[in-house]
Amino acid sequence: IQEKVKKPKWLRVKLPVGKKYTDLRGLVDKYKLNTICTSGSCPNMGECWGEGTATFMILGNTCTRSCGFCGVKTGRPDTVEWDEPEKVARSIKIMKIKHAVITSVDRDDLKDGGSIIWAETVNAIRRANPNTTLETLIPDFQGNEQQIDRVIKVAPEVVSHNMETVRRLTREVRIQAKYDRSLGVLKYLKANGMRTKSGIMLGLGETEEEVIETMKDLRGVGLDVITIGQYLQPTKKHLPVKEFITPEQFKKYETLGLEMGFMYVESGPLVRSSYKAHKHAS
Ligand code: SF4
Ligand code: SF4
Repeated sequence: IQEKVKKPKWLRVKLPVGKKYTDLRGLVDKYKLNTICTSGSCPNMGECWGEGTATFMILGNTCTRSCGFCGVKTGRPDTVEWDEPEKVARSIKIMKIKHAVITSVDRDDLKDGGSIIWAETVNAIRRANPNTTLETLIPDFQGNEQQIDRVIKVAPEVVSHNMETVRRLTREVRIQAKYDRSLGVLKYLKANGMRTKSGIMLGLGETEEEVIETMKDLRGVGLDVITIGQYLQPTKKHLPVKEFITPEQFKKYETLGLEMGFMYVESGPLVRSSYKAHKHAS
């Protein structure tokens, strides 16, 4: 039986505060808006919302994949709602979001992998919110370039795709995904002029050498922005936390990342892939 690792004090969650946060919270409740920030009870809400950043999930709430770390439910996916792009665009307008991160479940069941809704969502947001910058946190689209091209064509300010973990643990952590396929997606995005971003979670049993190897691999495909955060187990059924990485170790990765030439490195226990995302668009 795996012994439970005790949560250290640096992970104690700060309660969100501030007028901007309270106002947004009110709007989200009133209009029943769907953000990842609230559904995942993200510890950074005070900070992100205070800066006008929020994350929205499209293509439903059920995923065709079953990554061992992820709190999203797996199963038969929802039917595609063709008015979803307009709904998201409206939410962003109501919330007066300055920088929106859009992400989705994986839709391996759809012929287009969901890429049409992806492109439509970016277009609808642009029409309703011409001054809002965008980050699209996309799935791997099974490496299908035609589908990825739909996202490239609508030109979000940042395109991200998360590696989530090091090479050795990919099969266990992301099950249906492949390390090299994800690297390939990021390489393709970069070759097509996108600003690229990726995130990894630590504490799943990876070694320092493996983290550095992944950072080098990402730099090798020209990645611009990297986020490194602590993995936390969403429920007991998910992969256990093997280790809590110290703030000092996160700092070390940040220094290393900057030396490697990343444009931005966000590395810290509470860092999530959309943490401080507004910075990465400018
Ligand atoms: Fe929302 Fe991401 Fe910020 Fe968390 S880190 S509050 S999910 S934008
Ligand atoms: Fe979660 Fe994304 Fe994996 Fe689906 S593909 S289970 S949403 S991490």
